[in-house]
Amino acid sequence: EKGRLLFAGPVDFVKGVVAMPGLPPADRVEFCFAGRSNVGKSSLINGLTGRKNLARASNTPGRTQEINYFALGESFYMVDLPGYGYAEAPVAVVAKWQALLKQYLAGRATLRRVFVLVDMRHGIKSVDQEILTLLDKSAVTFQVVLTKADKVNLATRQATIAQVQAALSKHPAAYPEIIVTSSEKGEGLETLRAIIAGLG
Ligand code: GDP
Repeated sequence: EKGRLLFAGPVDFVKGVVAMPGLPPADRVEFCFAGRSNVGKSSLINGLTGRKNLARASNTPGRTQEINYFALGESFYMVDLPGYGYAEAPVAVVAKWQALLKQYLAGRATLRRVFVLVDMRHGIKSVDQEILTLLDKSAVTFQVVLTKADKVNLATRQATIAQVQAALSKHPAAYPEIIVTSSEKGEGLETLRAIIAGLG
């Protein structure tokens, strides 16, 4: 109920941030979404908020790397981190993104949770592991959200969940509950909304 209400309220784009000094004042609870390019991050944000084009789908991965801030009502910031792991991203872009991410994760006191999106078809890859290791060091709790659940059969679903559980057991900053979602079918969105509302 709390989650439904939170996401039924106003959602406004605040700004795109390219460097730490550009961050809005840390005056409210904040959570963010991270994940490989094409994992379904834009679709999930649009699905959660019930807007079609709030987060733009990444048709040109590796382009300008911005941290996008959205205000959910007056007490939450929802933060969309740039997608990572795009094979053809220029080295300089990757390095800049990693530096900004490190600073952001270490320096944002109001950041309550990082939702790491993982494609249900692929599970956790080495590029995700790098991010999880970074998260362990920054002492922010992270939680895995599996995406595109509608694309796999039950056996793959179970196998991926098992793979992710095994991987998470090695990460002290991991929140053990894995959320299974499909933006296409709406699966898991209400659960995720409730978890987010509970962070406040
Ligand atoms: P992003 O790069 O992480 O923002 O990923 P997008 O949201 O742009 O999604 C990448 C592709 O996956 C698009 O073609 C989406 O339509 C598709 N996609 C995203 N979520 C789902 C889902 O839940 N189910 C299915 N079947 N496709 C999805």
